[in-house]
Amino acid sequence: MKHQPETQAHPFHPGTVTLVGAGPGDPELLTLKAVRALSEATVLLVDDLVSEAVLAHASPSARIIHVGKRGGCKSTPQAFIEKLMIMAAREGEVVVRLKGGDPFIFGRGGEEVEHLRAAGIPVQVVNGITAGLAAMTSLNAPLTHREHAHGVIFVTGHAKPGDRGTDWPQLAATARDAKLTLVIYMGVSSAAHIQTELLTGLPASTPLAVIQRASLPDQRHAVTTLGGLLTTIATEQLGSPAIIVVGDVVRGVAAIDLPQTLIRSA
Ligand code: SAH
Repeated sequence: MKHQPETQAHPFHPGTVTLVGAGPGDPELLTLKAVRALSEATVLLVDDLVSEAVLAHASPSARIIHVGKRGGCKSTPQAFIEKLMIMAAREGEVVVRLKGGDPFIFGRGGEEVEHLRAAGIPVQVVNGITAGLAAMTSLNAPLTHREHAHGVIFVTGHAKPGDRGTDWPQLAATARDAKLTLVIYMGVSSAAHIQTELLTGLPASTPLAVIQRASLPDQRHAVTTLGGLLTTIATEQLGSPAIIVVGDVVRGVAAIDLPQTLIRSA
């Protein structure tokens, strides 16, 4: 069995790639390791949804390449991003691939690690706080609760083209029977479909929260029920990036009488 050195403060070597979780946006939610990786990088490839405040930790001499839609270009193809990382590593750069939230939660981090390994590039990963976790915590509410949520399911509302996608009725039944909280990423644009399908297994009165831009200064949220999801998104004009949380833990957001009450942030 291999033992890690007592201090894990090993350097980020030239010729390696580190996938770093940038967290949900608030730079204070970065791990110490992420901050160190950022400051030691000579090249950074930065995704959408990584806030400028996070990039303040990069070295002033580092080359920062935005590879997301909001970075100017129309979403850099994944294969090109992987090629860029491999090229930079082969040139002896200390490469950091900065990804929103956690690299291994819906961030295609798994695919990137596989491609880097196949190219013979040493790769490591630094965790970040995933948006689903940050979203509920920002409302001071838990995702599990000894009395009414025995676990959590992180699920995407966005299927890969050609994929059958999530089996929502099955998920609804499981969440109901096993008392699990559903945390839905990328679900706002297909909220109508998700709502209809979840209603096959969960009551319309199931508490639900939508949290947009969690941990950022312009965060907004609404608390409603599964039955009220679509109307709430429309009336509150909620949009991406947002997390939808479904389950009794949402009652912890505030002392409210669901389902009648709708609470929203300023
Ligand atoms: N790897 C990321 C998720 C990438 S998928 C993570 O671990 O958080 C992108 C989706 O994440 C968005 O569509 C949205 O559903 C969610 N997301 C990312 N940042 C968010 C934020 N600050 N607030 C709410 N949702 C966010």
